[in-house]
Amino acid sequence: MAPHILVLGGTTEARRLAADLAAWPGVRVTTSLAGRVARPGALDGDVRVGGFGGADGLAAWLRAHQVDAVADATHPFAAGITANAARATAATGLPLVVLRRPGWQPVRGDRWHPVASLDAAAELLPRLGRRVLLTTGRLGLAAFAGLTRLHFVVRSVEAPEPPMPPDSEVVLARGPFTPADESALLRAHRIDVLVTKDSGGTATSAKLTAARELDLPVVVVRRPALPSGVTSVPDVAAVLDRLGLDRLGLDRP
Ligand code: NAP
Repeated sequence: MAPHILVLGGTTEARRLAADLAAWPGVRVTTSLAGRVARPGALDGDVRVGGFGGADGLAAWLRAHQVDAVADATHPFAAGITANAARATAATGLPLVVLRRPGWQPVRGDRWHPVASLDAAAELLPRLGRRVLLTTGRLGLAAFAGLTRLHFVVRSVEAPEPPMPPDSEVVLARGPFTPADESALLRAHRIDVLVTKDSGGTATSAKLTAARELDLPVVVVRRPALPSGVTSVPDVAAVLDRLGLDRLGLDRP
């Protein structure tokens, strides 16, 4: 029987992984999306949308759909689904491979302020600037809602959800961005501090280059830890290697 791989998705890497798995003769791939994005775009293989109902619900889904392995390619900040994947695969005895793109590293000239959470970022902000570019995504803005004296430019792919800081303007945009784009945005809005999650990858890293060039401080929200005992691999090739499909006697595409 064709091995059935469940990809937990919502990222560019998950899309690439699904494409590579779907191209593998004799492999069946299903990508699972949370359903947060209105138009997620086409994916290779099968797609299912919506929560599973916690770790137990995910374990039941894995059994019902005769899944052979789970590849968690969710965003580094999607800690809930990763915790559920760890519990569900432990309960069902299935292999779990976690893909985490490497985090960003500061270079000479960066003025980074690492913090552990959005709340910690909000606490630090008034000491760093008055005009903030907030790029932490459309959810979780409540952490900044009490900062009534700061002006926020909130950039997100889809419209952010309230509560938000009272003095906010929204810029809807989807990466990838270039350093020139980012520099223009920072200058146009007279931004004096940037807030970002440590998402990693190249699609949204240009803002860090632009902030360095403009000598702006950057509040960097650190990633949540992986569940105890879980390790990650950095890219799609390493996931395919870990899944060991060629060791099952399946020919590479
Ligand atoms: P989360 O906090 O880790 O997950 C919350 C709940 O959403 C999970 O318990 C699960 O519900 C459901 N869920 C999350 N990812 C799912 C998936 N791929 N398939 C099915 N159900 C899923 O997740 P989040 O931070 O809200 O992120 C949601 C999705 O957006 C993720 O798939 C992630 O890859 C993507 N994303 C997140 C961020 C970010 O900054 N957090 C950025 C870009 C993309 P049940 O318990 O009911 O199963």
